[in-house]
Amino acid sequence: LIAFLLYLFYLVSPIGQLVQSLTQMQNGLAAVTRIEEIAQLPAEPPVSGVAGGGAPVGVTFTDVRFRYGDDRPVVHDGVTFEVPVGGMTALVGPSGAGKSTVFGLVERFYEPDSGVIAVDGRDIRDWPLDELRAAFGYVEQDAPILAGTLRENLTFAAPGATDEEIAHALARTRLDDLVERLPQGLDTPVGHRGVLLSGGERQRVAIARALLRKPRLLLLDEATSQLDAVNELRLREVVAEVARETTVLVIAHRLSTVTGADRIIVMEAGRVRASGTHEELVEADDLYRELAATQFLVAS
Ligand code: ATP
Repeated sequence: LIAFLLYLFYLVSPIGQLVQSLTQMQNGLAAVTRIEEIAQLPAEPPVSGVAGGGAPVGVTFTDVRFRYGDDRPVVHDGVTFEVPVGGMTALVGPSGAGKSTVFGLVERFYEPDSGVIAVDGRDIRDWPLDELRAAFGYVEQDAPILAGTLRENLTFAAPGATDEEIAHALARTRLDDLVERLPQGLDTPVGHRGVLLSGGERQRVAIARALLRKPRLLLLDEATSQLDAVNELRLREVVAEVARETTVLVIAHRLSTVTGADRIIVMEAGRVRASGTHEELVEADDLYRELAATQFLVAS
C-alpha cells in the first residue's frame, strides 16, 4: 500500500512530472538523432529500371578511411588497391580485416570518411546511384533461396530474362543437370516447402541470379559453409568462367577458391598488406603463407 501511495504521489507531484517530461524529451531526441542519421545517407533515387549490361569495369580504392560511426573503431585505415578490368581479383585476410566493408563502400551503402573510390575510372560520387548499383551483381554470403520455383528464384531481380538467357546462366553455373533432375524442371518449387538444394547448388543459384542482371562487376562474398570436393571444384570452374566475361571481385574464405586468381589482395586490420598472385604471395607475405599453411596448400 505504501509503495502504491508513493507511486501515486510520484505521478501527481511536480518532480514526477518533470522526470516523465525529461524521459519523453530523451526519447524525442533519440528519434531526432536517428532521423539525422538516415538523412545523412546518400539519397536513394527511385528505381528507374536502369538495365545492367555493358563492358566490364574495374575499381580503385585510394587511401580510403572509414568507420561505421563517430564512436566506432576505424575499419579502413588508408586502404589503397586496384581491381583491374576483367579477370578475377580476390580479397583475403583474417576475420574483421575489413573485406566485406569494401563491398558496402563500393555499392555506396556507406560513405568513406576520406579517400576516393572509383569505378570505371570515375569517382562513385559522380555516378547516378541506380546506374552504379545496376553495374554490380552482388552475391552475398549464404544468399537466401526464396520460397517459390527455381525460375522465380533466378529471375526476381531480372524479370525480363528470356528462357535463352536463363539457360545460358544455368549452363555457366553448372546447374543445367540439376534442372534436368528436378521433377518439374525450372518450375519445381525449391527452398522452403520445396526441393532442398545443397549448399553448393544454393551458392550457384545465387551466382546465376546475379549473372542474369548482366553485371559489369560481380561482387561475390563466398559462403563460409563447407563444400564437398565436387561442389568446391564446380565453384572454382564457375568463377573462372565468369571472370573470362566480366570483372569478378571475390571475398574468399577458402584459399582453394583463389589460388588461380589473377590478383589476390591481402587485408589485415583495415589495411592492404600485400597483393600478387598465389605463388608470389606464398614467397613474399608471411600472413598469406600462414593462411595457406593452415588450409594445407603449402607445407608449413
Ligand atoms: P569476416 O571475414 O569475418 O566477414 P571482414 O574482413 O569481412 O570479416 P568486415 O565485415 O568488413 O570484416 O568488418 C570489419 C569490422 O567492422 C569488424 O570489426 C566488424 O565488427 C565491423 N562492422 C562490420 N559491419 C558493421 C556494421 N554494419 N556496423 C558496425 N560495425 C560493423
